[in-house]
Amino acid sequence: MKFTGKNVLITGASRGIGAEIAKTLAGFGLKVWINYRSGAEAADAVKAEIEAAGGEAAVIGFDVSDEAAFVEAVKTIVDADGELSYLVNNAGITNDKLAMRMKVEDFEDVIRANLVSAFVGCREALKAMGKKRFGAVVNVASIVGETGNAGQVNYSASKGGMITMTKSFALEGAARGIRFNCVTPGFIATDMTDALKEEIKEAFVARIPLGRFGDPKEVAEAIAFLLSDHAGYITGETLKVNGGMNMA
Ligand code: NAP
Repeated sequence: MKFTGKNVLITGASRGIGAEIAKTLAGFGLKVWINYRSGAEAADAVKAEIEAAGGEAAVIGFDVSDEAAFVEAVKTIVDADGELSYLVNNAGITNDKLAMRMKVEDFEDVIRANLVSAFVGCREALKAMGKKRFGAVVNVASIVGETGNAGQVNYSASKGGMITMTKSFALEGAARGIRFNCVTPGFIATDMTDALKEEIKEAFVARIPLGRFGDPKEVAEAIAFLLSDHAGYITGETLKVNGGMNMA
């Protein structure tokens, strides 16, 4: 895969899956805009690694839950590069609790960070990309948005909403040639899954046909495919990256 003369904004790219998406897409020739919320040093380190490998990167700090900041960030990128070619809505949080103990604030915070932010990103991308009649967006949802999960009514609602929202954006974007797709990772080795207790990790691995957690690179490469012209006839789709877990 090769991208030439194009850029991409990746939200939540200071660590985990987002950092790997940034490195992978830069390796395929894209200028990457690395977004972070609090991890400025980590974001700078991702940029330095990309540049050391001969790629092009810029860092843009903002909280994706802040609509005005997200709108401003897209404007900054378009002003700097003349366009926003691609967007990956990757930033996400969890705040797990059993439903009976979950406050409305716990629910709303996760919906705002994961789903409302992706809505704002998709909307601003559609406006910016629509002007050029070129672009593609990938939203990073989750297997939990397809299956549900005990202790994650807030997170699963945010990711399930993201899957159907992506289809609706795909329908609205199609006339302008803008594609919107989702990936739904299963269990991927990052800080988010590191937080799980060892016995819970083992129980999950037992349910994964490929017998291991995924590597962030395996998610990043699926995203690169969906953004690329190789996926030029794919829109509104959800690509599962879960080691076969949906079959188990
Ligand atoms: P992670 O290691 O916890 O990293 C999360 C990233 O998102 C960090 O860069 C963080 O930046 C950023 N972020 C969080 N809230 C933000 C906000 N309000 N504004 C801007 N950036 C924000 O998570 P991950 O495991 O890489 O997950 C990445 C995405 O994949 C998430 O959407 C997650 O739901 C999804 N996913 C993960 C798994 C998995 O197994 N790991 C499975 C399915 C789906 P700062 O550090 O600067 O705050």
